[in-house]
Amino acid sequence: MYRAKSRGISSMLYDPDFDEHTPKRLALITDLRSAVRDETLSLHFQPKVDLSTNSVVSLEALLRWEHPQYGMIPPDEFLPLAEVSDIIQPLTLMVVKKALSVLQKCHECDFSCSVAINVSVRNLLDNSFVDKIHGLIERYGIEPGYLEIEITESALMIDPSHCFDTINRLSSMGLKLYIDDFGTGYSSMAYLKQLPINALKVDRSFIRDMNSNIHDETIVRSVINLAHNLGLKVVAEGVEDKETMDALRELMCDQVQGYYIARPMPWDELQSAMAESPYRIFE
Ligand code: C2E
Ligand code: CA
Ligand code: CA
Repeated sequence: MYRAKSRGISSMLYDPDFDEHTPKRLALITDLRSAVRDETLSLHFQPKVDLSTNSVVSLEALLRWEHPQYGMIPPDEFLPLAEVSDIIQPLTLMVVKKALSVLQKCHECDFSCSVAINVSVRNLLDNSFVDKIHGLIERYGIEPGYLEIEITESALMIDPSHCFDTINRLSSMGLKLYIDDFGTGYSSMAYLKQLPINALKVDRSFIRDMNSNIHDETIVRSVINLAHNLGLKVVAEGVEDKETMDALRELMCDQVQGYYIARPMPWDELQSAMAESPYRIFE
């Protein structure tokens, strides 16, 4: 009924896929709440490499949930459950804590990278979010400039004025702001000049075929030029082969991320993988 109403039609056939209240879904929400409380969700990290120095400049934290009964559940499946409930706030703070603790370890061994976390629009609409982040940064003794916040372009446009306030406060604290999945949202260009953004992450759907599809290549080239003219950096995500990385270097893209460099993996594994990789971990 709600789905029909939201589409402005009088009736629809029941489909459990769209039912937010099936017993399985409700049980998963309960399990997710416990996993967040017990901090049993884990983080994988994926490096961002600076193309001018070939060094790893940042690690993006990506959530993983190994469910005792259903096995690994991808974030795209469980995050919507956290978003519709009140779990998203404690979940994001848990991510920040785990990410800052890895950052501390990096800095202890003189690896002066940053760490990036993904935040949901619900976090940006929460008035206490900025203070909580501030408290955690202080607790872990981290310079705020080492924490990057990634927010998807589509999420940002849900309630721009409220989000803008939080973003401005995070930026004045010294955090770096990245617009994720750039090119897939329906945003006005006005916010690019209004917001204290540091970089755009070009969505991987444009990167995937940029070497074979002239339109994708044109889009990537144009986004890089647009960003640079506005004084922003550009990160290309989903780089899966050398040809794409070479083409991005040619287009003066600043940073790359993707399976060609490293898949997301637990911090311990990544540490050994990086020691053997051609990418330097010191600038
Ligand atoms: P995202 O932020 O766009 O993250 C990039 C996704 O692309 C990750 O999927 C990553 O594993 C995948 N990826 C990286 N390199 C490649 C590549 O070369 N090729 C391909 N095909 N894929 C690549 P993942 O880990 O499944 O995460 C999916 C989404 O879930 C993320 O998209 C992000 O929006 C969200 N997410 C993950 N962790 C968090 C979190 O802690 N908080 C929030 N709010 N969202 C998160
Ligand atoms: Ca991201
Ligand atoms: Ca992305």
